[in-house]
Amino acid sequence: MEYEPVIGLEVHAQLETRSKIFCGCSTAFGEEPNTQTCPVCTGQPGSLPVVNRKAVEFAIKLGLATSCRITPVSLFARKNYFYPDLPKGYQISMYEYPLAEHGFIEIMVDGENKRIHIIRIHMEEDAGKLKHGETPETEAFSYVDFNRTGVPLVEIVSGPDIRSPEEAGEYLRELRAILQYLEICTGDMEKGTFRCDANVSVRPKGQEEFGTRTELKNMNSFRHVEKALEYEIKRQIAVLEGGEEVVQETRLWDVDQGITISMRGKEEAHDYRYFPDPDLVPLRIDEQWVEGIRKSLPELPKEKKERFIRQYGIPEYDAKILTISKSSSAYYEETLNLFDEPKTVSNWMMGDLLRELKRDEREIDQCPVTPRHLAEMLSMIKDGTISGKIAKDVFEEMYRTGEHPEKIVRDKGWIQILDEGEIEKAIEKAMGANPKQVEDYRKGKEKIFGFFVGEVMKQTKGKANPKLVNELLKKKLKG
Ligand SMILES: [Zn+2]
Repeated sequence: MEYEPVIGLEVHAQLETRSKIFCGCSTAFGEEPNTQTCPVCTGQPGSLPVVNRKAVEFAIKLGLATSCRITPVSLFARKNYFYPDLPKGYQISMYEYPLAEHGFIEIMVDGENKRIHIIRIHMEEDAGKLKHGETPETEAFSYVDFNRTGVPLVEIVSGPDIRSPEEAGEYLRELRAILQYLEICTGDMEKGTFRCDANVSVRPKGQEEFGTRTELKNMNSFRHVEKALEYEIKRQIAVLEGGEEVVQETRLWDVDQGITISMRGKEEAHDYRYFPDPDLVPLRIDEQWVEGIRKSLPELPKEKKERFIRQYGIPEYDAKILTISKSSSAYYEETLNLFDEPKTVSNWMMGDLLRELKRDEREIDQCPVTPRHLAEMLSMIKDGTISGKIAKDVFEEMYRTGEHPEKIVRDKGWIQILDEGEIEKAIEKAMGANPKQVEDYRKGKEKIFGFFVGEVMKQTKGKANPKLVNELLKKKLKG
């Protein structure tokens, strides 16, 4: 039987406000533990929360950018549970009345646009951080740092529209791009400013009804989300094929073993005893405010993609990849400013550049090759200083060393051979060493031509100008 996965994602994104969501404490990352706390965010009796206007503005921005309806009145609610990183014994979140709902994000699947629905976006506060015996002296202890307690979060809940781990990756990249373009979240999964939980189930292909789902946690990179989903889908199929039933539960992704592990039975919403927070008034959002924010929205990934297609005449596929992050689209346009051939620049970025970055798991802003270096190398190909083939090596060297392309070409002696005499010498040598092939060619076996091109390139270490090699070789071979 063929199975189909059904995936929905819940993303928590930390909003980059300067102060916390319900108090004036700083949100700066990496400070000494418990230096950014006050009676409100540590839940002291009698303290009262006041909502951060900037955090609400950021959440509205995201709602508008994902085509959501902004609800005129939303309500903060208490989500009750005990955990040592949660000093109040409840988390202030939103439940029945979220800030925004009914939106969507478009992703590209097999060259087609696909809509992934956003069911809701709500605001909430982050919890603190637990540290378990990190040094030998503290081995027996656990510590809690409340600096993160009360940092504003938005939770974005997608519909169960995702059908493969790759689609999940696409959705997350697109959502992260939107957050970054809006400049409201750094989108750093490793630092935990962008976190993802996944609900996943499988069902026989063609069946309407959803299967029993599990919730996956603890995936802190895009790769891990995709890997965890792949593993979990296979696991659930195996369970069903074995005639058993999938248990509804929360499972942890174990990075080292590459498997998911049962953590606890899945809790239901009623387990949290949600109720409206009596310390906070309903959040009334003025329509004019929303319209003002709408007008201030920057160019978003989708709009930038469309502009790239229009302005630079590149294919949609290229435009999509180049605009997937704010920094990659900026890299592209900076390079274009210096070397005005849109498709050439796009090819190099999507090919060599992204391949190297992907291999090293680096972001484009950590790329050792600057737009200026790339543009200068492309100019060197264009004016014939280096061949396109050698350029691949130049690029690798630039990436490895961060050096200027001209210096690399000079130091390595990679300047293209345009001297006809020198090329002719290489041709004669190649022909002299392969008399049988010369004869075959002259008898009409034209395929052998490619063999000679290869030989000449070998002789010249790839530096001969290919156009000249072709011309001269044809002449010489005819004899
Ligand atoms: Zn505080």
